[in-house]
Amino acid sequence: MPESLKNIIRDVPDFPKKGILFKDITTLLKDPVSFQRTVDLMSHRYVGKHVDVVVGIEARGFIVGAALAYKLGAGVILVRKPGKLPHKTHKASYKLEYGEDSLEIHQDAISPGQKDAISPGQNVVIADDVLATGGTVSAVISLIEKMGGRIVECAFLSEIEALNGRNKIKSHPVFSLIKF
Ligand code: AMP
Repeated sequence: MPESLKNIIRDVPDFPKKGILFKDITTLLKDPVSFQRTVDLMSHRYVGKHVDVVVGIEARGFIVGAALAYKLGAGVILVRKPGKLPHKTHKASYKLEYGEDSLEIHQDAISPGQKDAISPGQNVVIADDVLATGGTVSAVISLIEKMGGRIVECAFLSEIEALNGRNKIKSHPVFSLIKF
């Protein structure tokens, strides 16, 4: 694991609420060498894997996802908070520590079987900055699979291992570049 990348991510205690240690990737993003190395290391895994689209989860997942997609020559799909996407959407709800939240995706974002007659759907990588409890990515997985997408891997810039997010999505391959 690249220690220099791990060390450049800033810990912000008690954000957004007491008891949460926030992993702030803005310190990594603003450093040209670290950002480029992050994108190179993450995208390298998927070279030759026929990734059609990278799904970025609002909001920091857009940055990671778009950079990965550009490197792979893939498209980008946005998964957003409710009410932000302009066209018809599918919605998935998921549990937070307190209460519930939802995410949306455009209904026509994934076109199953469009590109590859052998695979049942478009090959998708899901991208986000942090894997914590896994609730968010589980909701995104359910959206993608309902639409006929085939998940190549869920790719995270970092993972908080103690929260066991991997367990929630263990039927899918998971990669994280940095482990806390
Ligand atoms: P979870 O659904 O618990 O896996 O949370 C993942 C989502 O929440 C990601 O989109 C992260 O950006 C954000 N997140 C959760 N916990 C943290 C944390 N400690 N630091 C930074 N982002 C977090």
